[in-house]
Amino acid sequence: MDIDLARAWAQAMAAAVEVHKDHLTQLDSAIGDADHGVNMHRGFSAVLSALAGLRPDTVGDVLDTTGLTFVSSVGGASGPLYGGAFRAMGAVLDTALADPGRFAVALAAGLASIRKLGAATPGDKTMIDAFAPAVTAFGQQADGGGDFATAALAAADAAEEGMRATVLMRARKGRASYLGARSVGHQDPGATSTALVFRALADTAVAR
Ligand code: ADP
Ligand code: MG
Repeated sequence: MDIDLARAWAQAMAAAVEVHKDHLTQLDSAIGDADHGVNMHRGFSAVLSALAGLRPDTVGDVLDTTGLTFVSSVGGASGPLYGGAFRAMGAVLDTALADPGRFAVALAAGLASIRKLGAATPGDKTMIDAFAPAVTAFGQQADGGGDFATAALAAADAAEEGMRATVLMRARKGRASYLGARSVGHQDPGATSTALVFRALADTAVAR
């Protein structure tokens, strides 16, 4: 991961959210308040503007700006959760170039930030159910000597599998938890946007 790849990742996330905005909102209308697509779109639109004026020295600069912008522009639960995760990743990536092992550490820091702030654990039907398997898959590939694109592809596949698994879960955190057993049978919106985040990373890395 270098500065150009970090920028390209942010642009790919923004593009994916633009395409899937209505789907994310539709998922949130079933078990939340129908704003997840709008929240993510507002956040990434603001991120693109912020990054356009940034002259980063490190990968961390790109991710820290992404996170700060997210926190300040998104009102829903997902704003501080994603924003904090990008900032935590940025803090680890205070270099112009990061190898897959270092990026795996950054992803783990991002996940830890989400878990700390939201106090959710795997199985609670949140973005964590896509994020955690993605971090594990990326780390396994990195440990095995896989290159960045291979690790990112494994992470994207794991995130999508985790996303699909949220359908059968009962929500224990966030607005969806108010529905209790009625949340079962619906895919979690935040796990769905997390799958987009990791697919965007894989697409960006493979296109290199
Ligand atoms: P809000 O719930 O405030 O309307 P969004 O609709 O933007 O915010 O985001 C909802 C998503 O946020 C959920 O689908 C879930 O994945 C995630 N989420 C909510 N609460 C938590 C939490 N405590 N920990 C982790 N993720 C959470
Ligand atoms: Mg919502």
